[in-house]
Amino acid sequence: MTMAPSDADPAPTAVASQPVPGGPQRKGLLLILSSPSGAGKSTLSRRLMTWDPTLAFSVSATTRPPRPGEVDGRHYHFRSRPEFEAMVAAGEMLEHAEVFGNLYGSPRAPVEQAMAAGRDTLFDVDWQGGQQIRSSALGRDVVSVFILPPSIAELETRLRGRGQDSEAVIAARMAKSRDEISHWAEYDYVVVNRDADAAEEELRTILRAERARRDRQPWLGEFVRGLNREFEGLT
Ligand code: ADP
Ligand code: 5GP
Repeated sequence: MTMAPSDADPAPTAVASQPVPGGPQRKGLLLILSSPSGAGKSTLSRRLMTWDPTLAFSVSATTRPPRPGEVDGRHYHFRSRPEFEAMVAAGEMLEHAEVFGNLYGSPRAPVEQAMAAGRDTLFDVDWQGGQQIRSSALGRDVVSVFILPPSIAELETRLRGRGQDSEAVIAARMAKSRDEISHWAEYDYVVVNRDADAAEEELRTILRAERARRDRQPWLGEFVRGLNREFEGLT
């Protein structure tokens, strides 16, 4: 297992290809990562963002207290329950759900801004968030990936190894994992996170391929018209 961030790669293909100047803007896609707690979503998200700094991370709001080292506004927007509920009531959440007795939700505005700017957004949400975003108006722009642990024993080892949760919290998370894993088949892709380097590479491959889809390159029509004009110039 290697946990060092991989920095040997050349710069990522931030946007699959270069848009034609003046051509229609590419809309950002929504990359959803879900997994049982401890399988490695946060680790893999961090690595993907290091690989591609153009990726926007959807910073969720939560009523759970911060873990040591977690920064408000960067890892989560830490909110009281009444504050969170007011955001939901004001329609500010793209999705929200109760997980392990706390509320979690994805604020809508930053996602819409990133999409409009052609930036892809990464989500670390549970299966309920995945379902809600897929069935929202933005569902067509979703690419979803479920991360599986190599074994349940390893999942527990990782949860303990993280050293941030009490025994009671670890037990609650383990009990919930079976339920989370039962949703694996709702996702477009599944990655087993044995080796972090290999799992990261699989995620990069998924992102590269999804960015290269024809319908994600709206400028292609104009580009091919240009190729045809070039043909005409040759005759
Ligand atoms: P999640 O966000 O899914 O709850 P984390 O990313 O916090 O999970 O990972 C849980 C723990 O497992 C962390 O201590 C992390 O460093 C470790 N970890 C993640 N991926 C791997 C891997 N492929 N091999 C070994 N340990 C890993
Ligand atoms: P943690 O407390 O370990 O950071 O996260 C616990 C669980 O909540 C994880 O499964 C994580 O994916 C999920 N989660 C984090 N943010 C959101 C969110 O905005 N919406 C939903 N539905 N789940 C979230």
